[in-house]
Amino acid sequence: MSTPTKSPIPKSLQPFLSGPKKLLINGQWVAAKSGKTFDVFDPATDQVVAQVAEGDAADVELAVAAARKAFDDGPWTKMTASQRSQIIWKIGDLIEQNADQLAQLETLDNGKPVGVAKAADVALAADMFRYMAGWATKIEGNTIPLNVPYAPGAQFHAYTLREPVGVVGQIIPWNFPLLMGAWKLGPALAVGCTIILKPAEQTPLSAIRLGELCLEAGLPDGVLNIVTGFGETAGAAIAGHDGVDKVAFTGSTEVGKLIVNAATGNLKKVTLELGGKSPNVVYDDADLETAIAGAADAIFFNQGQVCSAGSRLFVQQGVYEEVVAGVSEIARNMKVGNGFDASTQMGPLVSREQHERVTGYLKAGLEAGAIASAGGGPIEGDGYFVQPTVLKNATAEMSVVREEIFGPVVTAMPFKDDSEIIGHANDTSYGLAAGIWTRDISKAHKFAKSVKAGTVWVNCYSIFDAALPFGGYKQSGWGREMGHAALENYLQTKSVCVNL
Ligand code: ADP
Ligand code: MG
Repeated sequence: MSTPTKSPIPKSLQPFLSGPKKLLINGQWVAAKSGKTFDVFDPATDQVVAQVAEGDAADVELAVAAARKAFDDGPWTKMTASQRSQIIWKIGDLIEQNADQLAQLETLDNGKPVGVAKAADVALAADMFRYMAGWATKIEGNTIPLNVPYAPGAQFHAYTLREPVGVVGQIIPWNFPLLMGAWKLGPALAVGCTIILKPAEQTPLSAIRLGELCLEAGLPDGVLNIVTGFGETAGAAIAGHDGVDKVAFTGSTEVGKLIVNAATGNLKKVTLELGGKSPNVVYDDADLETAIAGAADAIFFNQGQVCSAGSRLFVQQGVYEEVVAGVSEIARNMKVGNGFDASTQMGPLVSREQHERVTGYLKAGLEAGAIASAGGGPIEGDGYFVQPTVLKNATAEMSVVREEIFGPVVTAMPFKDDSEIIGHANDTSYGLAAGIWTRDISKAHKFAKSVKAGTVWVNCYSIFDAALPFGGYKQSGWGREMGHAALENYLQTKSVCVNL
């Protein structure tokens, strides 16, 4: 493993980074009412790279008023679905046209390798808007035959209307800053909602750029408002605001519970995409070469900062040593470094706080008796780098097995056979995703049926697509992102009954 190196920030980003970035409220870029700003850090170097307006409750107030006005009177809700669709499609086009810059902002803000940001985050974000642009014109209700038992002989014409829920607050995390914005905005815009978006305080830059592109695409004033700021202030103000009809949150399970509590005031609708501790199961009949590479990618992709990461690797006992050795070798050979270096395979973690969290888990795991067969600690230097780590000898009660680490740390545990694997896989409070590697289709489908997870990958991992619903069982969340399922988060049903 090589040591992290420093790379200069692309000069082309300088115009965007200069001067404090502002809030987007009612189509205007404005300073926070308090005048405050906060620093944005490059996780590879620990240097401040930008200042961003620190919005709080006072700014949320203005943003909600703008979104309300845009929903109640604005052109947005009065235009045809086809007109809405064209604007949403154009956002996708503009993302694609600005792919290099968006990828660079993502690397600067989050740390991820710039090639990955362009190929995955940016490409998926553009595709999400296009997928949802297609749905805008296909939001339909049903006609429903009635059989009212207490009105014999009467005839009714009954139908449903599918209507946007109204003003929505969307609070997103820092692991895929642009893509999480796209997952949230796409369906909400497709059905005609208006929005207050709060990016994570660690990674506000690409959301601000996305806001500029949305205006350029022709999104009317007030439809998308962006309040950058901290969770406890701006985020909490959105979640608790009576003028917000729905809140959609992606982040930690701990904060998800706070959101639910904050939403009780006006009983706003809530959807949540939360943490995970996903099982990834390798059977001895799997194509081991693919499974080993897949198991490594399942945990090391995005520095392990993926809610659906395959962080609990279960390997059938006969091939346990071989698979663990293979994943460990990949970990040891991984080039960890600045995301702007073309050869970098893994960047830094997003923040100092996250670095402390992950290294804290590593320490606790090793003290509890886990053994690192690769990595095991931080990488010294200015940035927030940790070693890709494979832990053996981990047992079910250790915090490294039970809790979401959100870093490049996998626990590898052996299992005997089918009789015990489902018990292990489901021994978690989470239920976001699961993986299985086997050549036996019956084993694969049985596992897919029994595992309590919102997504099951068979002989693959971390496959995401705008059309494929994603979300959690158990404490991994409420509702689904992507696919037509995501539209449900932003729609409500009105039944109309006509006496003929
Ligand atoms: P992490 O701790 O890994 O940063 P969080 O769940 O705290 O993950 O953050 C996800 C998002 O939730 C961020 O946009 C953050 O600002 C926001 N957030 C954090 N705390 C709150 C809160 N109390 N109310 C609303 N939003 C919050
Ligand atoms: Mg937090």
